[in-house]
Order: sequence, then structure tokens, then C-alpha cells
Amino acid sequence: MQEPGARKYDVVIIGGGPAGARTASLISRAGYRTLLLEEHECFGSPIQCAGIVSNRLHDLVDIDLPVLNSIRGGTVIPPNGQGLELIAPEIKAVVIDRGDFDRQMGERAIADGSEVLLNARCIDIKTVGTLVHITYRNNIGGEEHTVSSSLVIGADGPRSLVREKMGIDRPKEFLYGMQAEVPSELISDLRDDEVSVYFGKAVAPGFFAWLIPAGDFVRVGLCTSGGEFPKRYLQGFLGSLDISDIRGLEYISGTIPLGLLETSHADNTMLVGDAACQVKPLTGGGLVFGMICAKHCADTAIASLEENDQSKSFLGRYHELWTAEIGREIRSAILLRKIFLSMSDKDMDSLVKILGEEDLSAFLVSRGDMDFPAAASKVMLRKFPKLIKFAPHLLKAFL
Ligand SMILES: Cc1cc2nc3c(=O)[nH]c(=O)nc-3n(C[C@H](O)[C@H](O)[C@H](O)COP(=O)(O)OP(=O)(O)OC[C@H]3O[C@@H](n4cnc5c(N)ncnc54)[C@H](O)[C@@H]3O)c2cc1C
Repeated sequence: MQEPGARKYDVVIIGGGPAGARTASLISRAGYRTLLLEEHECFGSPIQCAGIVSNRLHDLVDIDLPVLNSIRGGTVIPPNGQGLELIAPEIKAVVIDRGDFDRQMGERAIADGSEVLLNARCIDIKTVGTLVHITYRNNIGGEEHTVSSSLVIGADGPRSLVREKMGIDRPKEFLYGMQAEVPSELISDLRDDEVSVYFGKAVAPGFFAWLIPAGDFVRVGLCTSGGEFPKRYLQGFLGSLDISDIRGLEYISGTIPLGLLETSHADNTMLVGDAACQVKPLTGGGLVFGMICAKHCADTAIASLEENDQSKSFLGRYHELWTAEIGREIRSAILLRKIFLSMSDKDMDSLVKILGEEDLSAFLVSRGDMDFPAAASKVMLRKFPKLIKFAPHLLKAFL
């Protein structure tokens, strides 16, 4: 199974996105021999992100965030077009250069002692006894190699091969997203410290569309669910903004996994980031949750190497740690998402109208938390029970 002279690592991490790079940094800093495999030729490309994150991200990484813009709030636009402005006096979020962020995270992992193989696509994983054998193919020459380790960490994104090979649950739902970078001068009426979020079945079925000012460009994008492809909705959305020449724009697209996995580990295996569905179900953001969980994943990996125990039951402590921190939020947000999916466009118009009442919008501005919106919604529903009329049965369960 193992090639003669093949290298043996303590940990092999599949996927050099932010979750994989952060986990690699923390494990190699503790002195363990760590290999990070990334299928692309460099970190940070292709980009699959709108790049908006809360200020929390500053404290969760050891790099200076490549900030392009700061955001104080935004306008929520329901199907009837009567927008509700929710603007805070302070900065609530930042817009980052996601390619640069990933590059810096990857370089940090190398500086912390991780070995990195780029252009290396993992194609197979097998456990034999206490070792995991990981086979990868070099994208340039096509040759295949096998390395082995005590532990494999799947940080290989929404369609994780590690998750599939190790027989771990799939996410319950996938969103499909697409975004264009539009020169700022082509978008009128958007302040540079505010985002706009559009709801409606004709705009972005099952999710929402966004305008995010990012310096010289505005990120114009949306996600869809329920098998709808985002491309035609994005074309329609760009058209509604009077952007007719769409051929020269830069596009990105990607998948967002939603749900709460029952396990994120198996013998000799842990998943982290999108591979483990550590994503906010209401906004699709995964960077903050991925970084929170990367710390738990690395801590558990280090403990398991110290105690020489990579059994599923030992690694279960990782699942307990991260679900204790964000599991309740994900569970509640999934319930709120169910309510959102059950609402008609008319319901959405009336909800936004009610949220516009002074006391409610003041509450949203002061207490809204973009990483833990479901927890804040619970407090809001208790304070403003008139909101319960939107889905009485589900909301009572939520409370
Ligand atoms: C349209 C869109 C907009 C988004 N906007 C935001 C946002 O504004 N804010 C936010 O917080 N989040 C956003 N997200 C989500 C965010 O991009 C993800 O949560 C984040 O990238 C997850 O990081 P990760 O490291 O877990 O996975 P990824 O970033 O997906 O990295 C996985 C890495 O694994 C590599 N890989 C996969 N398979 C293999 C293999 N077999 N072998 C070797 N390498 C492999 C991939 O090449 C990739 O580099 C958005 C997502 C989409 C699709």
C-alpha cells in the first residue's frame, strides 16, 4: 500500500482553503509533522465568496485581514421594493479580498512549519490498521503518490471527498451561488458603507441577492436553492439594476452546504469548515464558523497525537466542542430557514413592514449579530410577540 520511502506524517490535511490552512498552522506550531494538500496551483484561486465577514474574524486568525471596505449596515429590500434601512453608528462588518486572505492563510501555515503540496488532488483514502493512506494525483504530470498519516483532516470544501470516503453524513441541503464584480460607477444609489439585500421568489428563490461595495467594485450576487440554477436569476438581477453589458464582468460561482452533521469525525478522521457544514444557514457565511472550528479541530488533533489515540470515540470530543459553541445557533437558524422557505412574497413584504416599526428596527440595529442571528431573533421574538403570526407553530417550537 505505502510506496517504498513514502513519507509518513502525523496529520495530512486535504484542502488548502482557510479552514485547512488554519488547522495546519495550529497543528504544525505544536511540533507535529503536518502535510497540507491543495489541488489548485496556488492558494486563493478560484475565489468562491462575497467576502463579507464580521469583525470577529480579526480575532480568529493571525494575519492582518486584507480589508477592502467597512460596512455599518444595509437595506433589506422585500419583493414590493419598499426597503428597510438598518444602519448602525459603528462598523458591523468588513469586506475582504478573499484571494489575498486565502494566500496569507496558506503562507502562514508554511511559516508555522506545515509542508504544502500544491497541484495535488487527493483521489483516494484508505485506512489500514492504525494508518490512513492518502493517494493524490499531481495535476501537472498526472503521476500518483501515496502518503500515510495517523490522522486525516478533510478541509476539502462542500463536496468533500474525505467525507464521502470515510462514510460521514452529507449536508442536508446545498445552495448554489453566483456573483459578478461590477464597477462601482455602474451601480447608483449604493453608499459605500452599506450593503443591500433583496428577497423574493423571482429574484433569488430560497435565499437572497446582494450588493456589497468592495472598493472599486460592487459584488452583485445571489444564491438559489431547490434545484434552481443561479445563472439566469443573476442575469435577471443585473438587468433589474440596468447593467446591460454583462459579458466583460468577472464571475464567480460556488456551492454552500447547509445543515448540522450528526458526526464530523470517524476513526482517524475529522472534517472542518465547509466539509463539516460549519456554515451559517441564514446567510451562507462560513469563514467565521470555519475558523472557530479549526481551533477545536487542531486542539483535538494535538490531544489525540499526544495520547496516541485516533479512535472515533476519542475524536468525538471535537464534534462535542464545536457543536457546543455553534451547534445551537445552526439548529435554530435551520428552523428559521424553514419558516423563511414557507413564506410567500406577500408575507415577506409584511414582515419587512413590521420590522420597520421604530422599536423593532432599533432593536435589530443595536442587537443584531451577523454570526449568531438566530440567537438574536429568539430574544427579539420574546420581546415582540407580534412577529409570531408569521409561522405560529414553527416559531413556538423555536422559542
Ligand atoms: C457565492 C458564495 C459567496 C460566499 N460569501 C461568503 C461571505 O460573504 N462570507 C463568508 O464568511 N462566507 C461566504 N461564503 C462561504 C465561504 O466561501 C466558505 O464557507 C469558505 O470558503 C469555507 O472554507 P473552507 O476552507 O472550509 O473550504 P474552501 O474554501 O472550499 O476550501 C476547500 C479547499 O479544498 C480544496 N480541495 C477540494 N477537494 C480537494 C481534493 N480532493 N484534493 C485536494 N484539495 C481539494 C479546494 O481546492 C479548496 O481550496 C460564500 C460561498 C459562496 C459559494
